[in-house]
Amino acid sequence: MKRFQVAIDGPAGAGKSTVARQVAKNLGFTFVDSGAMYRAIAWMILQEGGQVSEPKAYQLAQNSHFSLHPQGVIVNGRVLTDELRSPDVSNLASTIATMPRVRQALVVKQQEIAEQESVVMDGRDIGSHVLPNADLKVFLTASIEERAKRRLEDLAQKGLSVDLETLKTEIAARDLNDQTREFSPLIQAEDAYLLDTTQMTIPQVVEKILVLCRTKMGGEE
Ligand code: C5P
Repeated sequence: MKRFQVAIDGPAGAGKSTVARQVAKNLGFTFVDSGAMYRAIAWMILQEGGQVSEPKAYQLAQNSHFSLHPQGVIVNGRVLTDELRSPDVSNLASTIATMPRVRQALVVKQQEIAEQESVVMDGRDIGSHVLPNADLKVFLTASIEERAKRRLEDLAQKGLSVDLETLKTEIAARDLNDQTREFSPLIQAEDAYLLDTTQMTIPQVVEKILVLCRTKMGGEE
C-alpha cells in the first residue's frame, strides 16, 4: 500500500504536536514528533552537566536509537515525555537544531520512519526538507501572544509555572533561531497550505486538516 505522508510545520507554540497527534489518531497513521528528537538530545546533554558542544550533540544524534512514543520519544530504551518540555530543554534544543551534522543525522532517522508507515510528522523543516514529496503539507501559525498563552497553559497543566512575558521572549528567540539558521531554516514550503490558528480551536484545526487529507486521498487537488 502506498504510504501517505502529512507534514505539519510552523513556529514554536502553534499547536503542531497537539494537532498532528489528533490527525494521526483519526487517520490511523503514525504520529512523529520530530522536535522531541532534538529535545531528547538537549535533555541528554543537560543530564550530563550541560556542556554543549557540536561533536557531543552530533555523537548523540548519530548513535542514539530513537523509537516513537505517543507523548514524546524513546531514546536508547528510555521513555522521555514531560522532562522534554522544560524551558531549559526547549532553549538548548533550539541551539542544537542549528548544527548541520545534528540535523542531518536526525533527518535520516525521520525519513526512515516515514518509509515504513503512513505518518503525520510535525516540525520545522518537514515539508521543505525531510519529506519534500509529502502528500499534504500544512504550515501552522498563530500570533506570538496566542502561542505564548497556549504554552503557558500547557506548562501549567504539567505543574510548571512560567510568566507570560518570559515565555513570549523565549518563543521570539526560538523563532529567530529557527528562521535565521543557515541550515534548513523554518520556512513555509511553496506547496504548503497556510493555516493561521490564532482564532481557531484545536478541533477546528484538526477538522480542517482532515478535510485537506481526505481531499488528497480522494485524488482531488
Ligand atoms: O517542536 P518543538 O518545539 O518540540 O521543537 C524543539 C526545537 O527543535 C525547536 O525550537 C526547533 O529549534 C527544533 N526543531 C527543528 N526542526 C524540527 C523540529 C524541531 O529545528 N523538525
